[in-house]
Amino acid sequence: MNEYLNRVLKQTEQNNLNEPEYLQAVKEVLTSIEPVIEQHKEIYEKTALLERMVEPERIITFRVPWVDDNGQVQVNRGYRVQFSSLIGPYKGGLRFHPSVNQSIMKFLGFEQIFKNALTGLPIGGAKGGSNFDPKGKSDNEIMRFCQSFMTELYRHIGADVDVPAGDIGVGGREIGYLFGQYKRIRNAYEGGVLTGKDICYGGSLARKEATGYGLIFFMREMLKAHNDSLDGKTVIISGSGNVAIYAAEKAAEAGAKVVTMSDSNGCIYAPDGIDLDLVKQIKEVERGRIKEYLKVHPEAQYIEAVKGEDSPVWTIKADIALPCATQNEISLNSAKILVKNGVKAVGEGANMPCTIDATNYFLENNILVAPAKAANAGGVATSAIEMSQNSMRFYYTFDEVEEKLDRIMVNIFNACKQAADEYNHSGNYVMGANIASFKKLADAMSAQGIV
Ligand code: NDP
Repeated sequence: MNEYLNRVLKQTEQNNLNEPEYLQAVKEVLTSIEPVIEQHKEIYEKTALLERMVEPERIITFRVPWVDDNGQVQVNRGYRVQFSSLIGPYKGGLRFHPSVNQSIMKFLGFEQIFKNALTGLPIGGAKGGSNFDPKGKSDNEIMRFCQSFMTELYRHIGADVDVPAGDIGVGGREIGYLFGQYKRIRNAYEGGVLTGKDICYGGSLARKEATGYGLIFFMREMLKAHNDSLDGKTVIISGSGNVAIYAAEKAAEAGAKVVTMSDSNGCIYAPDGIDLDLVKQIKEVERGRIKEYLKVHPEAQYIEAVKGEDSPVWTIKADIALPCATQNEISLNSAKILVKNGVKAVGEGANMPCTIDATNYFLENNILVAPAKAANAGGVATSAIEMSQNSMRFYYTFDEVEEKLDRIMVNIFNACKQAADEYNHSGNYVMGANIASFKKLADAMSAQGIV
C-alpha cells in the first residue's frame, strides 16, 4: 500500500480504537483503491480527501427509555451515524439488535456511502439503530420502544435531510410505528421521511422484495459475463429474514434450487428445495424460529448452530452461496469448505458477510464474488424510488418498480465490471465496486470544496 494510504489507515486505527468492524470496512476499501489514489495522490493528500472520507459528518447517540409489559422501565441506546451528505440526503437503515454498537453503526454507515453512490441516485450515506432486542417482545412493547426512539430521532431527520429505512430487526411493523410517531410530533404528513413504509400509507410496491431480488439480478449479470446462469444451480442461503426470503424467491424463479435457510439458532437443509411459502408463514406472519419448518416437513434436516462458530449452512455442498444474515458470517474456515465443495460464486446479500481473509481466499481461487456494496444495493435504490413516488404523490405499479430495479442492478454490475477491467483486475468485482463508487465520491468531494 502506498505511503499516503498507509498513513490514513494507521491514523484511522488510532482514532477508532476498539471499533474492529469499522476498521475492517475502511481497510477493505482503502486497500482496493490504491491505483486511483496513485493517479491523484498529490491533490488528494493536500486536500485530506481520504481523511475526510473516513470521518463521519456527525454521530448522534441518545437515550431510549420505554416501559415493558410488566411496568418495568427499560433503557436502550439509540444511534444515528450521518456519515456523508455529499450526493444526497443521509440515507440508510435502522438496525435493532443486541449486538448494535458504535463500531457496527459506523461500518454500516461507511459502506452505505459507497453503496448509495453506486445506485446512481441522489442519496448520501447513514445508518442507525439500537441495541434493543425485538425478539420475544410483544407488539405493544415494540410500539412503545419505536415511539420513544422516534421522539428523539425526529429532530435529526427529514425528507431532504436524512431518510432512515429498515435493516435487521426493523421491518414493516417497526417502520409503521416509527412513522406514526414522527407524523404525530410533526403534525404533518411527510411521506418521504422514512422508506419501507406499508403500501397503504405511502410505501412502494416491490420495496420489500427489492434487496433480495436485486441480489439475484446482480448475480444473473455476473454469471452471464462468465457465460453461466442461475438455471439448474444449487443455492445455499443463510438467514430467513427480508433479504434471504426474497433472494430465495427470485433465485427459484430463475431456475435455481435453494436448499438451505437459517436463523441464529440453526439451519434447515431441504435437498429437494425449500418450501418458501412455509418460511414466509413462519417468519413474516408467526415471527417464529426456522426450526418450526420441521413441523410441516419432518423429512428436512435441521442442523443446530454452534455458538461462536459460523452457520452450518456453509458446510452444505452448492454452486452458489448467498450470505443474507449478518456481518462476518463467512470466516476463512467456511470459505475453505465452500471452495472445497465446489462453490462457483458468492453473492453478498448481507453487509460485509465475509471476513477480509475469506474474500481474499475466494478471489485467489477464482470464485466470483458479488460484493455487498453493489449486490445488495437494490434495497436502497428502491427506497430512493419510494422517495421519488412520495415527492410526486403518485405510485408506480409493481412491474414498473421491478423493471427500474432490474435496470439499476444491470447498471451497477456494468460499473463494477468496467472499473475492474480498466484497472486490470477483470473479474474482481470487489475491487470494481470500491473503485467505481470511490471515484464518484472523490469527484463530488473535490467539487464541493473543503467541507
Ligand atoms: P432481518 O431482520 O429481516 O433478518 C435477519 C436474518 O439474519 C434473520 O434470519 C436472523 O436470525 C439472521 N441473523 C441476524 N443476526 C444474526 C447473527 N448475529 N447471527 C446469525 N444470524 C443472524 O434482516 P434483513 O434481512 O433486513 O438483513 C439481513 C442482512 O442484509 C443484514 O446484513 C442487513 O444489513 C443487510 N441488508 C438489508 C437490507 C434491507 O433492505 N433489509 C438492504 C441491504 C442490506 P435471527 O432471527 O435468529 O436473529
